[in-house]
Amino acid sequence: MRTAFPTVRGIAAVVMGVSLLSGAISCQRAKTEGPVSEPAQVTQAAAPENESSPATADVRPAPTINASRAIEYVKEVVAFGSRPIGSRNHTRLEQYIVARLKGDQVEDDAFVADTVEGKFPVRNIIAKYPGTKDGIIVIAGHYDTNYPLRNTGYVGANDGGSTTALLLEFANQLRGKKRDGYSVWLLWTDGEEAVRSWSDTDSLYGTRHLAERWQKDGTNKKIKAFLLADMIGDADLNIERETNSTPWLEDLVYQAATKLGYQSHFYARTLPIEDDHLPFVKLGVPCADLIDLDYGYGNVFHHTPQDTIDKLSSKSLEMSGNVILQTVWILDAR
Ligand code: ZN
Repeated sequence: MRTAFPTVRGIAAVVMGVSLLSGAISCQRAKTEGPVSEPAQVTQAAAPENESSPATADVRPAPTINASRAIEYVKEVVAFGSRPIGSRNHTRLEQYIVARLKGDQVEDDAFVADTVEGKFPVRNIIAKYPGTKDGIIVIAGHYDTNYPLRNTGYVGANDGGSTTALLLEFANQLRGKKRDGYSVWLLWTDGEEAVRSWSDTDSLYGTRHLAERWQKDGTNKKIKAFLLADMIGDADLNIERETNSTPWLEDLVYQAATKLGYQSHFYARTLPIEDDHLPFVKLGVPCADLIDLDYGYGNVFHHTPQDTIDKLSSKSLEMSGNVILQTVWILDAR
């Protein structure tokens, strides 16, 4: 994924003065929250408009994930090593995911992507859990890891690993239970990462393909919400308010976070990020990207061999996971 927004690290590289740096951070926060020096105003301004909406006041609590099991999955995924498209480790990971979905309704969207580094097999994996309500909620996250870093010891514990694992834990929560709500489709996306350098044509290989396919077969019209998770395992969890996403759905995520008492980990910053939701956003599907792009101070661990399991916590997986499930339950009740 990519953002055009200046990260704290980017600002620090240019601006040497500490006072200027803190000024820049204040400006970012001021976009949504008002001046940092007036905390009373911050609280008021940060609350989404529909927070106390009567339509969602008596939503049933959603199931909570087993976070220790989720982080065990991350460890197992990371143990495969680097998992870029076209690699043996990628194939092993595909088999690992599908093996854990035994008995579930699993489909894939497999094709060959033509990239600047050659042709690669790409495979989106979809597990479907039917509900009683007409409509689909998609929960997505990518499982491929960064291609250019494939020979550096890079394992993508947070970027790739955390979401692969979280989706597997969601499957455990959904399996074998009758859903009194929308159908939930878990989507392990592939080829999210650029093979050379991020551009409209070198990125999002899997979701660009799937969004087109679902547009043609009418699936996109049935999707009530597309919830994307990316880099949500950072022990210091700061989920951004992402501005390519659909505002009402972002509000709903915040409502879910608030219900669970996790709101201090959400929306400190507001910024646009290009991620797997974009092909669906462009086709009018309501989307929310839950992403923490502050991975280490100034995002210093992102796309580096330092993206390792010791930077993650089961608590962060629990918070992001439970907020996503709670958002699904709020959507069910609307
Ligand atoms: Zn990445």
